[in-house]
Amino acid sequence: MRSIHHYLDGQIVPSTSGRTGDVYDPATGLVQARVDLASIGEVELAVAKAKQAFPAWRDASLAQRTQVMFNFREIFSARREELAAIVSSEQGKVFSDAVGEVMRALENIEFACGLATHLRGEFSPQVSGGVDVHSIREPIGVVANITPFNFPAMVPAWMFSTAIACGNAVICKPSERDPSAVMKIAEWMSEAGLPNGIYNVLHGDKVAVDGLLHHPDVAAISFVGSTPIAKYVYEIGTAAGKRVQALGGAKNHMVVLPDADIEMAADAAVSAGYGAAGERCMAISAVVAVGEAGDQLVEAVAHRIPGIKVGPGTAPDVEMGPLITGEHRDRVAGYIGGAAAAGATVVVDGREADLPLEGFFLGPTLIDQVTPTMDCYLDEIFGPVLSVLRVDTFDEAVAMINANPFGNGTAIFTRDGGAARRFQNEVEVGMIGINVPIPVPVASHSFGGWKSSLFGDTHMYGPEGIRFFTRAKAITTRWPDPATSAIDLGFPRNT
Ligand code: NAD
Repeated sequence: MRSIHHYLDGQIVPSTSGRTGDVYDPATGLVQARVDLASIGEVELAVAKAKQAFPAWRDASLAQRTQVMFNFREIFSARREELAAIVSSEQGKVFSDAVGEVMRALENIEFACGLATHLRGEFSPQVSGGVDVHSIREPIGVVANITPFNFPAMVPAWMFSTAIACGNAVICKPSERDPSAVMKIAEWMSEAGLPNGIYNVLHGDKVAVDGLLHHPDVAAISFVGSTPIAKYVYEIGTAAGKRVQALGGAKNHMVVLPDADIEMAADAAVSAGYGAAGERCMAISAVVAVGEAGDQLVEAVAHRIPGIKVGPGTAPDVEMGPLITGEHRDRVAGYIGGAAAAGATVVVDGREADLPLEGFFLGPTLIDQVTPTMDCYLDEIFGPVLSVLRVDTFDEAVAMINANPFGNGTAIFTRDGGAARRFQNEVEVGMIGINVPIPVPVASHSFGGWKSSLFGDTHMYGPEGIRFFTRAKAITTRWPDPATSAIDLGFPRNT
């Protein structure tokens, strides 16, 4: 059985905790590796190594840091398929989707390569007679990145690319379900010339997370995961005096107005609802059909479902892979029965799909006539289940979204620019798509939801990421005017 150990100070370090976690192949249901689960002593070791490495990296010139980032960008880009294969084998998503994940990570790395521009300070000359002010941003120290299972390469890249470019030392605590992708990233970082101790991988569970949250030498926590844990991480981390950005779960709505291109909207609902088996924080979960859009849309989505090939993510031509664990698959399937019992119409039942016998598979599911009081609407399902809710007006659709506790992403499908503009202005959600089902911002903008989808005030990556991983210093300077100085400067005055 393969063992996955920590990566500390540029070395692979086996754990001494005596605890390990099972890493499954979700396509077969078999354990394929065991990952170390850190003890508090190992958290302390990781933080000590990062703390020791930090000052030299902080003081490295922008040119040196830029060179390392560019070297890493070259390695990462050239080996994207190697990383995608690792993602697919542990997370389960289809290989083409895993390549897409790696490409999004690459965008974040490329943004970080522009660190010399991002870290340029500001200058105000002559704010008072002979007085200038300038402000600079400095790295904050040792930072922890705690990441979820669903994007084992991209979400770490949202964090480490900016954190490292800004001059910090990072400890990544990846999901224990698919921990191998960041090990490869750490290895490539060393190959790119990153000094030892600047990118560390500490595997673990709650013990490791709690250790990082309480450690006085960890200056900041970036977290992405489910809402209850995000809230916990935010509360404990900020109480311990750290800056925290904690992104939580989601329930993303896609509104379809009667004037929308229904074929386009159906394609979007299928790819955004069932892509990555619905295990995306920006997946569409609730389709809100306004007026007469409902019947046509449900028919168009149902018509597409039999064409979605479900199977192992590594197999060619497969469009949807398994879920992450058997337990999660059973939980998702439970919502289908629950919705039927509550009075909804199960149009396509993924439990009855033609699925591989082994592995954690569930077919794409479409549920119509869902109402806002049903569990399949209230909870984040995080699986291949689309719920359709019917409303009569645009205003009802917006009110439904705004009443929902989550506010990660949302989309509207319409040909009406005025309606789209109203939607963008009135909806209380962090990321909005207009005829775009998964509006993940490009790397030069920042990613983050509202309400229970984000705790803290800083979004991830882009300009807000730079702000999160640096702190400001303002310097006020006055020099004596040479014209009035009593000191002999060795050159004629007033000339
Ligand atoms: P999770 O909350 O179970 O785990 C996330 C991280 O927290 C992991 O590293 C895990 O080891 C750690 N963790 C788990 N339980 C903990 C506990 N009790 N105490 C301390 N740490 C703990 O999330 P997941 O199942 O890995 O990922 C899926 C969730 O992540 C979904 O809710 C999804 O919406 C969310 N997500 C959100 C975004 C976003 O950008 N908002 C992006 C990706 C995923």
